[in-house]
Amino acid sequence: MSDCIFCKIAAGQIPARKVYEDDAVVAFHDINPAADVHFLLIPKQHVDSLAHCTAEDEAMLGRLLLLAPKLAAEQGLAAGFKTGINTGRGGGQEVFHLHVHVYGNR
Ligand code: 5GP
Ligand code: ZN
Repeated sequence: MSDCIFCKIAAGQIPARKVYEDDAVVAFHDINPAADVHFLLIPKQHVDSLAHCTAEDEAMLGRLLLLAPKLAAEQGLAAGFKTGINTGRGGGQEVFHLHVHVYGNR
């Protein structure tokens, strides 16, 4: 997936304002924020979308979702936040590397 922009961000080949990184996950601020705070959580390993996930991705999906409230609180959204996973062209997905939007106003 050498032409995937989020793989390049995960690999550090394209700069992004990262808010979190571990062995399997990266979180970074959306380049075009829809709220005061808007970051994306992605798996480092490429998967096109939620619709492409399998049972093997269960732990990764849980890890992304469990990180959302922790990172949201760290970014000033302790009072609450929205999450979104756009899936497929019909779902408004523009970047075909699975990502969870986390956003909200302080
Ligand atoms: P989608 O519509 O696929 O769910 O959302 C893709 C999101 O990725 C959009 O909110 C868009 O602003 C963001 N995005 C696209 N390209 C880049 C980029 O190069 N860097 C960052 N930080 N965000 C990006
Ligand atoms: Zn990718």
